[in-house]
Amino acid sequence: MIGLTATLLTVGALRTGQRESAARVMDQRTSVARVAVAGEAGRYRDLLQAVAAGLGTNARLTAADFAAATAPLEGAGLVGATSVAYVVATPPARIAATQTFWRGRGADALTLAPRGQHAEHYFSIFQRSLNNGGPAMTGLDVAASREASSALTEARRTGRPTISDTYVLLRDRNIPVAQQQLSFLFAAPVYSPAEDAGGLPEFRGWVALGLHGQDFLGGVLGVASQGLLDGELFATNGDGRRVLVAGYDARGRRDLTRQATFPVADRQWTLLTGADSQNLPGARSSMPAIVLIGGILLSAMLACLVWILATGRSRAREQVLVATAELRTAEAESRRQAGLLGAIMSSLGDGVGVVDENGAFLLHNPAAQALLGVSDDVDGPDSWQQHFGLFRADGRTPFPVEEMPLVRALQGEASDGVEMLIRNDQRPDGILVSVDGRPLDAGAAGRHGAVAVFHDITELRRYETDLAVFAGVVAHDLKAPLAVIRGHCETAADELAEAPEGPEVFEARAALDRIANAVDRMAALIDTLLAYTTSRDAPLKLTAVQLGPLVADVVEHRTEHPRPGDSPPPDFYLGPLPEVQADPAMLRHVVDNLIGNALKYVQVGKSARIDVTAAGGPPGWTRIEIADRGIGIPDDDKPNIFESFHRARTAAGYAGTGLGLAICRRIVERHGGTIGVADNPGGGTRFTFTLPLAARTRNALDRALAERAAAAGSVPPEIAGVGPIRPAEAEAAPPRTPEAGRAEKA
Ligand code: ADP
Repeated sequence: MIGLTATLLTVGALRTGQRESAARVMDQRTSVARVAVAGEAGRYRDLLQAVAAGLGTNARLTAADFAAATAPLEGAGLVGATSVAYVVATPPARIAATQTFWRGRGADALTLAPRGQHAEHYFSIFQRSLNNGGPAMTGLDVAASREASSALTEARRTGRPTISDTYVLLRDRNIPVAQQQLSFLFAAPVYSPAEDAGGLPEFRGWVALGLHGQDFLGGVLGVASQGLLDGELFATNGDGRRVLVAGYDARGRRDLTRQATFPVADRQWTLLTGADSQNLPGARSSMPAIVLIGGILLSAMLACLVWILATGRSRAREQVLVATAELRTAEAESRRQAGLLGAIMSSLGDGVGVVDENGAFLLHNPAAQALLGVSDDVDGPDSWQQHFGLFRADGRTPFPVEEMPLVRALQGEASDGVEMLIRNDQRPDGILVSVDGRPLDAGAAGRHGAVAVFHDITELRRYETDLAVFAGVVAHDLKAPLAVIRGHCETAADELAEAPEGPEVFEARAALDRIANAVDRMAALIDTLLAYTTSRDAPLKLTAVQLGPLVADVVEHRTEHPRPGDSPPPDFYLGPLPEVQADPAMLRHVVDNLIGNALKYVQVGKSARIDVTAAGGPPGWTRIEIADRGIGIPDDDKPNIFESFHRARTAAGYAGTGLGLAICRRIVERHGGTIGVADNPGGGTRFTFTLPLAARTRNALDRALAERAAAAGSVPPEIAGVGPIRPAEAEAAPPRTPEAGRAEKA
């Protein structure tokens, strides 16, 4: 509003200024026009008076004298002037004499033409045309015009120049009315000098000048107003009437008018001027429009700015309120989640502990506190062993810091089921815990840490141990009667060998064979059960084991006593096998089990084809592969065959307990390795398991790698078949394939 008001006031002031300026210009122009019109009229009169005075001095005025005296008028630029004439007064009785007289003075063709009845006629004797308006018209009787004759009379009476009332000049009366103009007659009396007439000036005649009002006004005003003013010229006649003599139109509408009255000879003339204020200098400018538009735009911008400023605070407050509400909701939600997490942690039976990236404990649940017995107010991983009293499962060896699940998790390595004994002042008897460690990625927060879950397995292990002892005792006690039965069977068989042949004897021998077979199966089952417990509980006796001889021994053992009804002899290929770090008895059990399965699970009547090779594996490890061309394992069963007592449906018709592979897995995992199964391309099954390389092999491998860095060399035989596979070596001496090996053997 303020902006608009200021704009309107400014525009108003500008407009007023323009109007005032226009009025000032109008005043100036009108004054100039008045001075021009009055000045010109005065100049005509003065010129006429000068001519009259000049003619008066010439006692013998001739046509040539008149022409000479009036010649300067031609170049005087008398706008609107029609002609100048020398006029004399003659009573009617002397018209002929006057004509003769002036013919004698050079007016050769002068014919005086009296018009009307007058006491005196006023004839133009000599004439000079000033506007090229046609030939000189001499001999005219000026008395025919009342206005002209009264002007002449008045001039003679006063002895001064006069101007007539407006009338149509006699000479114009024969042209079309439309072209006729209201005109004036300037009259100046001609007197002889006083001395010529014996003391008194003698009246001789007049010098008369015809003036077209319209031409005069148009010419003078056109120049003076520069086309910006209209003008109307009024003359006040002798009877006081004001008559419009002429008008001059400028372009545009007329909204300013002025009036000026001034004397011309013995009359008053009035000049009425008008102008279009828009055309006057200083009155026309686009400034108000620019100011108006600019002001409106500026006001609109100001209004927007004010609106933004005025509403900005409330908008900001609204945003703050919304953000605060969201923050409160988020805070409530996180408080709820924290409460929920706390409740879950408190209700967990397993201990949970979380550490930051430096190993400082961030939180633990009550179960963790109860398991550890002591507070977790401890410096860092290096002091954990002493502070918490952490030992290996044997209860004697201090648990190495670098193997602790939380430390491994801080290095990004997950671990499961790490057994650890906790024994400290609060736990003098010690408890056995199974610990899982996982790295924690705090995501965007950028902080890392680790979490560990402790599960108390003391009771479970005690129970399992009891069970194992029980199983061992039972197995042992079962095997003793079996040995007795077998012994008696063999004795009975020996006795029967000497008995005479007969159907009863044959029957008795067959029965003894069946008893012996059943006893063998029973003994094998008991052995398997014993191995099952041993595989888990017996302490590992790790040593360097040459895998090649071990496998060869198992193969020989398995094939030396083919039984009647067995499949055709198997076809073995044993690749180069490395030296591994393992418990020899347990490792033999794994190999024996896998080779035994490969021999067992073949189509009836077909010979088994088995390849035992070693290759690849993680650094420091080897991967051993036992591949057969047997009946294979359906995909559905593969995930479960390492579970206890699981047998594939294809195993129906083959003897077995479903414990063999479970035992293998236990043993391999206790060595830190993994075991897996896959289809053998082309049919059959491929079992693979990893084992740590023996230190000697590892050193040899490192040495060979170092040497090979300088020059590609041959592979030491003791490290053949260990990983990782080296491409350069593969190129220099391609690994022996089972087929190639078999061909060599043949
Ligand atoms: P089992 O005493 O039945 O052989 P294992 O644990 O050794 O028990 O094997 C589990 C099951 O895996 C077997 O019942 C059999 O179905 C399958 N299996 C194991 N090895 C082979 C193999 N080489 N070829 C085909 N099937 C096999």
